[in-house]
Amino acid sequence: MKIKVATLFPEMFDCMHVGIIGKAIEKGLLELDCVNIREYSKDKHAKTDDYPFGGGAGMVMTVQPLHDCVNSIDPAHEYRRIYLSPRGETLSQKKVIELSRTDKLLFVCGSYEGVDERFIQLDIDEELSIGDYVLTGGELPCMVTVNAIARYVDGVLGSEQSVEEESFSNGLLEYPQYTRPAVFEGLEVPEVLLSGNHANVDKWRRQRQIEITKERRPDLYELIRPQLEKEEAEKRKKKKGGKKDD
Ligand code: SAM
Repeated sequence: MKIKVATLFPEMFDCMHVGIIGKAIEKGLLELDCVNIREYSKDKHAKTDDYPFGGGAGMVMTVQPLHDCVNSIDPAHEYRRIYLSPRGETLSQKKVIELSRTDKLLFVCGSYEGVDERFIQLDIDEELSIGDYVLTGGELPCMVTVNAIARYVDGVLGSEQSVEEESFSNGLLEYPQYTRPAVFEGLEVPEVLLSGNHANVDKWRRQRQIEITKERRPDLYELIRPQLEKEEAEKRKKKKGGKKDD
């Protein structure tokens, strides 16, 4: 997967070269190129912002450096161009999976009060938000998005790590996890997890996922409820059928 980032602060992306994502970049599974928008400014002082027309607080990123930067990185518009913005579609696991199926992504990070609207009109395919709050720049939202997407790129996570059973992957939050020791400060690991009975472990985990989701995210639970009720009804039917056969 190829990822390009247009930003005024490319050095912020140094922390992407650490850990799992860093290894993926090293192995060439992920290409991450950060380009400084300021290098494309035609202003004699390399300015990239100006006062907003109509007045108001703060500065706005000017259209020329943004337009030239993006079209120099991606002259044939081969990349899916995404502007990080609180106004955009909110990032979700579904959106992460959808983006991970795109080979070429170009992210634009805003600063100050945002960008001149004409840049969005001319050069951007979509706007993406990481949540209903405002940050000082698009760099952290971009890193959050790239980190989440990279986990779906083949080979990035080791075989021992799976995205399949995680929170949101099946519409439910994750079940509680435990590791050694079996007892800590008097707190015991649930017995079923030590039993070696995989069917019972799966059943317990699924049940806990449902309970946790219902308790913490009733909105998600309501979405998955029809499917859970269908599964329950099928189970009951099967049980009844089995009894008749006996
Ligand atoms: N004036 C803008 C508004 O009210 O929507 C906020 C601008 S913010 C201070 C500067 C830049 O940070 C934005 O242009 C955007 O690129 C980025 N940003 C801030 N919060 C964000 C969020 N929740 N999701 C994505 N990008 C965000």
